[in-house]
Amino acid sequence: MRLVLLGPPGSGKGTLAKPLAQRLAVPHIATGDLFRAEIEAETELGILANEYISNGNLVPDDVTNEMARHRLSEPDASGFVLDGYPRTVDQAHALHAALVELQRPLDAAILIDVPDDKIVARAVGRLLCPNCGAIYHLVNKPPQVAGICDICRGVLKTRDDDTPSTVRHRLAVYHRITSPVLGFYEGQGILKKVDGVGNPDEVLQKVLAFWFK
Ligand code: AMP
Repeated sequence: MRLVLLGPPGSGKGTLAKPLAQRLAVPHIATGDLFRAEIEAETELGILANEYISNGNLVPDDVTNEMARHRLSEPDASGFVLDGYPRTVDQAHALHAALVELQRPLDAAILIDVPDDKIVARAVGRLLCPNCGAIYHLVNKPPQVAGICDICRGVLKTRDDDTPSTVRHRLAVYHRITSPVLGFYEGQGILKKVDGVGNPDEVLQKVLAFWFK
């Protein structure tokens, strides 16, 4: 199964993507995670990406497309849940071309629909385990021990780009630049919409219901 998850920042894409990928037995590929790993390793790509990410802006398409194409051509990516890519119409075209070349066409693009007024509250308060990638929330999904990952005992961090002003900016970027991607997949007849308000497990069940009745 090859899926793209679409939705505004803080819609729960990342939280959904992990169990969904597990259930479908495919890798979870998140461009945000790939960039954060590059930043952590202080690579040239990471230093460049950080200039955009820390301000809530998108990393340029050419760099992002190249990184995504490279990851998607790896042997384990015959199926995948793609999270956070594509975020521009140009990226959607580049992804399409890469998947045609790899003979790995998409099965569906899933929009996790969450209204703007819920977004800022969700993204602010988000906690991330830098060690295993688990996502928590101070209010909605607190860890058992404050500041410590339930799964790997890593020390949780807030994301540098989760401040209220940066989240508002990322949301504006989403509406202006990313939402036209929905039209691209609608045109291909593979867009599916899911109401993203509700607990993460309910949202997962709604997504799985497209394939497993
Ligand atoms: P995310 O973890 O998906 O919220 O991504 C964090 C940040 O990484 C975004 O706000 C962007 O700055 C950058 N980023 C992630 N994916 C992309 C993409 N497909 N295109 C451009 N920038 C991206």
